[in-house]
Amino acid sequence: MPSDNGWSAPVGIRTPNLLIRSQMLYPLSYGRKLPANIIIRKTSQNPPDTLRIVKRIALIVALLATQVSPATAVDIPVICTDKASYELRISNVVKGCLETEASLGEAPLPYSLTSPKKLNETLEWRFKAAQAAAKREGVSLAITSGYRSLARQEYLFNQAKKKYGSFEAAAKWVAPPNISHHPMGLAIDVNYPKGPNSAKWLELNGYKFGLCRTFKNEWWHFEGNIAPGWKCPKMMKDATVLLNS
Ligand SMILES: [Zn+2]
Repeated sequence: MPSDNGWSAPVGIRTPNLLIRSQMLYPLSYGRKLPANIIIRKTSQNPPDTLRIVKRIALIVALLATQVSPATAVDIPVICTDKASYELRISNVVKGCLETEASLGEAPLPYSLTSPKKLNETLEWRFKAAQAAAKREGVSLAITSGYRSLARQEYLFNQAKKKYGSFEAAAKWVAPPNISHHPMGLAIDVNYPKGPNSAKWLELNGYKFGLCRTFKNEWWHFEGNIAPGWKCPKMMKDATVLLNS
């Protein structure tokens, strides 16, 4: 039977020794009764309806993902922090934050294409807002190491190699310069080495500000790898995981 859904199915004419694919012969044949010797062939051009629908939905989703219209952008929240009081306020990507506020962003902090010279500004605001919230609860937080130059990271890595004896062993504690997120301005060490109890506050509450503890073996190392309010991803075993990613 001809397809009644408007989809252009190829048509074949069976002759004693020949099967001719001949959509050309019956381009407008849908809804008409075809001669008995005409069959509809299942070919890769004639997929089952469900598959076709799934493909169309996937295409629409892909198209939507490439274009954020103002209507949907309003739904993307941005967390703003007051620069003086560090109170948080939810805005959206269209309205943005006020002049008296700093944005904590609406996504994981992106990698810079160039080598930065300082800590990522949004990461710094995220920490400041978290620090103020911790202070209100009587917990003291401080960045003990943030941005490091590549040269500094190389020096630290070489020291670690001497201490731990091998590249792999050293990389568990100090990532090589091209791997570490400190020279990218995207990592902070908090309360190292003497404040694990206070740093625990940040491990539990950091997600509200877009901060997550990254490694199981480093209680002090935090990154802005989520949007504020998202759930932190599972911690990595140690920095050697980055060597293979
Ligand atoms: Zn670190």
